[in-house]
Amino acid sequence: MSTPTPPTPPTSPNANIMEAIVSLSKRRGFIYQASEIYGGIRGFWDYGPLGVLLKNNIRDWWWKCMVECPPIGPDGHPVDIVGLDSAIIQHPKTWEASGHVAGFNDPMVDDIGVSRYRADHLYGLCPGLPNGTRGEVREAGGTDPGLPMPIATVLASSAGEAAEFFTGDKKTQKLFGIKSLERVAGGFQGQVKGRDFSGTVICLYQPEFKGLFNKFPSPSTGEVGKLTEPRAFNLMLDTYPGPIRDEANKAYLRPETAQGIFLNYKNVLDTTRVKVPFGVAQIGKSFRNEVTPRNYIFRSREFEQMEMEFFCPPDDALMWYEFWRNERMKWWLSLGIRPENLKFRDHDSDELAHYSKACVDVEYLYPFTAPDFGELEGIAHRGSYDLTQHSTHSGTKLDYFDQELQLKLKESGASPEDVKSKSRYIPNVIEPASGLTRAVLVLLCEAYRYDESRPSKEYLAFKPQFAPVKAGIFPLVQKDGMPEVAEKLYLDLRKHFTVEYDPKQSIGKRYARMDEVGTPFSFTIDGETAKDQTVTVRHRDSQLQERIGIANVKAFLSAKLGE
Ligand code: ATP
Repeated sequence: MSTPTPPTPPTSPNANIMEAIVSLSKRRGFIYQASEIYGGIRGFWDYGPLGVLLKNNIRDWWWKCMVECPPIGPDGHPVDIVGLDSAIIQHPKTWEASGHVAGFNDPMVDDIGVSRYRADHLYGLCPGLPNGTRGEVREAGGTDPGLPMPIATVLASSAGEAAEFFTGDKKTQKLFGIKSLERVAGGFQGQVKGRDFSGTVICLYQPEFKGLFNKFPSPSTGEVGKLTEPRAFNLMLDTYPGPIRDEANKAYLRPETAQGIFLNYKNVLDTTRVKVPFGVAQIGKSFRNEVTPRNYIFRSREFEQMEMEFFCPPDDALMWYEFWRNERMKWWLSLGIRPENLKFRDHDSDELAHYSKACVDVEYLYPFTAPDFGELEGIAHRGSYDLTQHSTHSGTKLDYFDQELQLKLKESGASPEDVKSKSRYIPNVIEPASGLTRAVLVLLCEAYRYDESRPSKEYLAFKPQFAPVKAGIFPLVQKDGMPEVAEKLYLDLRKHFTVEYDPKQSIGKRYARMDEVGTPFSFTIDGETAKDQTVTVRHRDSQLQERIGIANVKAFLSAKLGE
């Protein structure tokens, strides 16, 4: 048999690779705009027949690796994690205790009469290069050298994405009179409003720009004087369970699944056999009234999260933080993501919440953030903050008596005071929190390939385990008993794998269709099958074909899916 060659690197004639991915996933039934026939609703998406299969494959793998078969811990023992499915709506006090009512805010800027944007998503093209060259400046009192005011603005998730707009997006360029603009060392150079321009792209939500937002051009209209100063905007969506719609009956759609876990921490301890350290894992929908939902499903108002809260003794928390940080990166790599497209970003101390000792993001190189990376998962050391808050607000004791630790301390000769104070504690929490729907986006971006020489031109090179459909089963032609044999094989296989039977069209077209939806294998029943009981296997990435016994197809697929 010939060995399949690695897939070609992703390239597309489409300048905007995201457009190509969005269009393919719509065309082939991965993701649709929610309420499309009514013109859509911003920030909401529906997962089609293939999208739901892809999402479930990722979801099931997370559950398998976190709950059913979690890793071996740093102490050599298997880690204990149990599952949970808590209600989306909890007592409103939950969100007061967690800090979401007072502090779950995004800074927001109004573009008067036009729209409302996230201030930290507002990027400016500002004159002046780091080498000291400066263009238009704000004169402030004569002695202040002034700030380079933006001559153009856009909304973006990163400076990299903003630069793409300024250098390549015709609409943005027309709005701000950018005739040409290209990257040079340390910045950008070109022709803007009929003059030579050199400058940089920077996020405008910075202390230096405080009080100056009304001097920036609007990213939508280009008009100056229409932007307000940033104000805090709460991201929780509210609702009113019951018959009376008043403040007293206001509740919230959860903005994260984590709080449902904290509320059930005591239930789990009291009703199962777990002991600290242990984890509780949950997958489910979360809702955030994002000011600017954007970049396809990256930032939506309704999305799915996969979160785990790991409860551990305070003295071991840093050890568990390091452990989960490494395990989570290993998990993302297990999805077949290329290592160079993933990285850690440690939070600086000024980014950390006051109770958090450490936090790291796992970031991915999304096409719309490149050359920068964007968040995929956050792993946070949350100290004892959450349980302490819920204990104070609810009046329920949430501390833990650690009998094993008590014994150990006694054996080590610790003083009776130490034994008493250390063996009863509020556990610390390490929280790996990731987005399931963001993971779907990452796998689509990672799998997308463009190859002019192939019949389908575009194809999705999913790792077989995550492909929505594992195999296509085809009779070469609809005669000579081939459909009957193919259908029998299909009926056998579908008990074990998600497979598709397709007897119509030319075999080339059927292969192309499978490539486009990322099906890794196709089995074709042809004239030889009746003679020697073999079928053709076609490999999606290499397009190579080989023959195997029809009786071995199931074992072949099992082996490939386990790789
Ligand atoms: P971001 O900085 O992107 O707004 P965050 O730091 O607020 O994210 P967390 O609260 O840590 O995110 O949520 C954990 C994970 O949930 C994120 O890493 C991301 O994968 C996912 N997530 C958060 N908000 C959204 C959203 N609006 N749409 C889709 N996924 C989201």
